[in-house]
Amino acid sequence: MVKAKINGITVNVPEGTTILEAAEKVQIKIPTLCKHPDLPPTASCGICIVKLVGSNKMLRACCTPIEENMDIITHDPEIVEVRRTVIELILSKHPNECLTCGRNGNCELQKLAEEFGIRTSAFQQFLPDIPPDTSTGTIVLEPRKCISCGRCVTVCQQNQNVWALCFMDRGFGTRISPAGDGVSLSESPCVKCGQCSAHCPTGAIFENDDTAKVWKALQDKDTYCAVQIAPAVRVAIGEAFGYKPGANLTKKIYAALRRMGFNAVFDTNFGADVTIVEEASEFVQRFTETPEKLPLITSCCPSWVDFMEKFHPDMKENFSSCKSPHAIVGVLAKTFFAKKRRIDPANMFVLSVMPCTSKKYEITRSDEMYSSGYQDVDVSITTRELARMIKQAGININDISEEEPDHVLGEYSGAATIFGVTGGVMEAALRTAYDYITGGKLKNVEFENVRGIEGVKEGAIPVNGFTVKVAVAHGLSNVEYVLNKVKEAKRAGKELPYHFIEVMACPGGCIGGGGQPYGITDEIRKKRGEGLYDEDHNCKLRYSHENPFVKKLYEEFLDKPLSEQSHHLLHTTYVKRPEYQK
Ligand code: SF4
Ligand code: SF4
Ligand code: SF4
Repeated sequence: MVKAKINGITVNVPEGTTILEAAEKVQIKIPTLCKHPDLPPTASCGICIVKLVGSNKMLRACCTPIEENMDIITHDPEIVEVRRTVIELILSKHPNECLTCGRNGNCELQKLAEEFGIRTSAFQQFLPDIPPDTSTGTIVLEPRKCISCGRCVTVCQQNQNVWALCFMDRGFGTRISPAGDGVSLSESPCVKCGQCSAHCPTGAIFENDDTAKVWKALQDKDTYCAVQIAPAVRVAIGEAFGYKPGANLTKKIYAALRRMGFNAVFDTNFGADVTIVEEASEFVQRFTETPEKLPLITSCCPSWVDFMEKFHPDMKENFSSCKSPHAIVGVLAKTFFAKKRRIDPANMFVLSVMPCTSKKYEITRSDEMYSSGYQDVDVSITTRELARMIKQAGININDISEEEPDHVLGEYSGAATIFGVTGGVMEAALRTAYDYITGGKLKNVEFENVRGIEGVKEGAIPVNGFTVKVAVAHGLSNVEYVLNKVKEAKRAGKELPYHFIEVMACPGGCIGGGGQPYGITDEIRKKRGEGLYDEDHNCKLRYSHENPFVKKLYEEFLDKPLSEQSHHLLHTTYVKRPEYQK
């Protein structure tokens, strides 16, 4: 431990703690634009400078470890003046377009400019003339608003291991760009996870805003509008309205969506229950009949699917062919539901509200996303976009009464709701697969080994004299460890290290998705995850295959899991994408 003083307050922190982190322990916030709690320091913005008492030497708090007996001062007139000058310099290269910016009211640069009372600048403005990159249709890259903090580059290269972004040129001309000059983001290896947008402090990377398409559909009297919300949305959207992270607003969101004009309000959790029934059946089939096709790898994260198709196409046969839950609700809305309610699917509009930027890509990813005969999901928006729409509609989410979802694509089990957190798909699938193989229930329905925010989690459960070995990875940089173990074992002809693998591209799973409210930290991921585990814990129904509406769906429409009809509507295929060099 190290003992030191910050602004006269004694701190005791482990050796290696930075001055910035130590200050937070005693409730002192040192401003920074480049340091994010998820990322290592890059010391690129220079706003976090502090001084040692009795010295004029300035240190960068984000990357300087606190030392024994240091006496640090974080705020004095000189420090404040230096910080103000740095902000003014940043603003000299930043367009003053706050009113029309995607981050208006939510921008870290705007907030600092306000806190430091910046009204004029001593520096002449120089604005780069670089057009926005909208090529992916998921995230928009607007280099003019970039302040060169480096967060997106670090998150994309280090945390996601994709290496789609880099800095180009030098000095004043430095700019953020897809890796490779003259290359658009869609031509880069980008997997559309949106983690760069979740970590960018300004409006230089943000979600492609699709809300106008939704309002247009809602205005059209001849269009039947249906909507679904993903599990992770319900425990995060409240943050945009002053609720604490993890507050579960499911039934208020249903009510808000009805007020906005949707004719039917579904829940993606219903689709998650169906996904589990199909995926658990696939696992049981491979485990009992074709073990050479193991391990089975989950496929409900489109960024992970894109990553696999680009960097590990040799694993595509191991992927579950089952579609993701929102794609399943989309196709069932335009077939099963439309038939029941005598609605012409040609006049239906299905919206998905997701924590995810990548789902915007997934809805047109392959021919199977049109299995209903139409585009199954018409538009996908993020949690952030829905929060804005609720505000635009003047709905007071705090006081609105709770409502229920619509039959027959709304009811769900607790297993479905934990889909939104890392380990949740695995846990839900094991509950059902165990029952399918043994005819009995897992001794402990809550499978603790796959819970928590460690990057890779491993577990084993005895099933009929065998041990089923599982692994869960989240954050794409953690995937290689798991896949390498499998590939090495296969090469050496050894026993498989895992039979079932879950991967989610975003750290924490979808609760930490790229389209969730800004300000993500591990603490917030934990709270959002707890919100979902609480809902599962309090659900009467804990098993996807016991959802009576799922049973009805098979009885009336799909026949049985993995049937011809199920394969036609609920499954997809994968391809090898062009090879990318990291
Ligand atoms: S969306 Fe994900 S993969 Fe694409 S640039 Fe951003 S962080 Fe990288
Ligand atoms: S795009 Fe955003 S996160 Fe990336 S360097 Fe620029 S300001 Fe920082
Ligand atoms: S983990 Fe969830 S939010 Fe993130 S890319 Fe995958 S599906 Fe989207």
